[in-house]
Amino acid sequence: MNNLSKNYINGQWVDWSGDTIDVHEGTKGEVIAKVPSSDRAAMEQAIDAADAAFESWSETPLEQRIKVIKQLHEGLQKRAPEIAQAVAREVGMPIKLAGMIQAGMPMKVTETYLDMLPDYPFTEKSGNSEVQYTPVGVVGCITPWNYPLHQVILKVVPALAAGCTIVLKPSEVSPQSAFILAEILDGTDLPKGVFNMVCGLGQEVGDTLIKHPKVRMVSFTGSTRTGNLIAHAAADDFKRIALEMGGKSASVVLPDADLKESVKGTFMNCLMNSGQTCTALTRMLVHKDQHDQACEIAGGIANGVVLGDPLDENTRLGPLASADQLDKVRDYIKLGVEEGATLVAGGADAPEGLEDGYFVKPTVFGNVDPNSRIAQEEIFGPVLCIIPYETEEEAIRIANGTPYGLSGAVFSGDQDKAKKVAGKMRTGQVFVNGGAFNPLAPFGGFGHSGIGREFGKWGLEEFLEVRALQL
Ligand code: NAD
Repeated sequence: MNNLSKNYINGQWVDWSGDTIDVHEGTKGEVIAKVPSSDRAAMEQAIDAADAAFESWSETPLEQRIKVIKQLHEGLQKRAPEIAQAVAREVGMPIKLAGMIQAGMPMKVTETYLDMLPDYPFTEKSGNSEVQYTPVGVVGCITPWNYPLHQVILKVVPALAAGCTIVLKPSEVSPQSAFILAEILDGTDLPKGVFNMVCGLGQEVGDTLIKHPKVRMVSFTGSTRTGNLIAHAAADDFKRIALEMGGKSASVVLPDADLKESVKGTFMNCLMNSGQTCTALTRMLVHKDQHDQACEIAGGIANGVVLGDPLDENTRLGPLASADQLDKVRDYIKLGVEEGATLVAGGADAPEGLEDGYFVKPTVFGNVDPNSRIAQEEIFGPVLCIIPYETEEEAIRIANGTPYGLSGAVFSGDQDKAKKVAGKMRTGQVFVNGGAFNPLAPFGGFGHSGIGREFGKWGLEEFLEVRALQL
């Protein structure tokens, strides 16, 4: 990465000489990079470049767009170890897993689009009309820090495929992989101005991007609070929005399920990326008669997890991404105790020997009141809330009893019963008896978790407007 002090605008790396933002690693809290804290003028330049490039890019033959996406895929493959290393240090995911997920998912997602695009029907017949699916225009992409390249790829690849031009504002907390992406795209046949990246703070450059009249769509992943600001800003000039936001997903363990496997499946999902995953199964609903046993199993798992430097191959749980996140998660753990939940394992104190970094012990709360704040609000750390229920109806009511609806899980010895319960969950996806994650399935939220979908054809269609020619 040679360009961390620059923005990528109109096919050029443009020097930035103003304020910078420190990027930290989580093991010791050391500064590992400095990136531009760009101003509104830099963002406006990028938007103008994307606007100027739109007409020509929107009319390129699909084959040309596919060619660029193939070149991008090759670049992602070549630079995968560097991507894994950068994200592991910024975010805290153990290196092996970061290789599989943080570097691997962007490649996988790109492959799914390369498979799908040649046959995607960009026109279809309806009576005497030809219906055309046409790019929405300049797209502003704003992304968070937890899966920093994956979330960018889920926007950039389908937007390019659709014929849109792009201005990306990556997360200022974990921006390095976005610079790698810009360097890769710089080496492809992408015409200048089609992809632009400006690094900086949300309230400055992000704000310019979401309010600029030349931006016709904002595709956002991040917190519900920022999503709300974006929805309001977009309403003023009727921009399209796609919002992927927070979650408080429930895992419903039915009494006939294998308890040990269900608890393990739920808790390992909750701990993934140190709990910094929007779809994390952070609420585990178990029958009241199995509650204590579930606590014992989860407590045993928590106490056996090896914490440490994400670059150490033995580490199973790394640090959090930032000092702010550390404070937030510890405050929630203290709150859980104050609210009267039973602290089964973990706690707010720093793990021994890791006091300098952003580490949180894997924490399990039992007897959690479903209406308490730790059961309602997104904590975004390695914290599991175990909630007892009496009947299946009550379990479903609790599962659906937050403003969110991003993910969920059901475990049962009876697959049909599990599917029936899954079908009652007001959420964008449900993992039935440990079903595998599928990059071809639509991904997105109900309620406060989002508007729109990513992945596969659903992700592509967010970037397409529909035009009917009456013939
Ligand atoms: P965040 O909302 O603080 O920031 C996300 C992005 O928005 C960043 O690039 C930030 O700079 C920008 N931003 C902040 N304020 C802005 C403003 N006023 N105008 C324009 N842009 C602004 O979120 P975060 O802390 O980076 O990420 C964590 C959140 O993301 C969690 O809530 C998590 O659940 C959510 N998330 C959701 C998904 C999903 O697909 N549903 C995936 C990952 C993360």
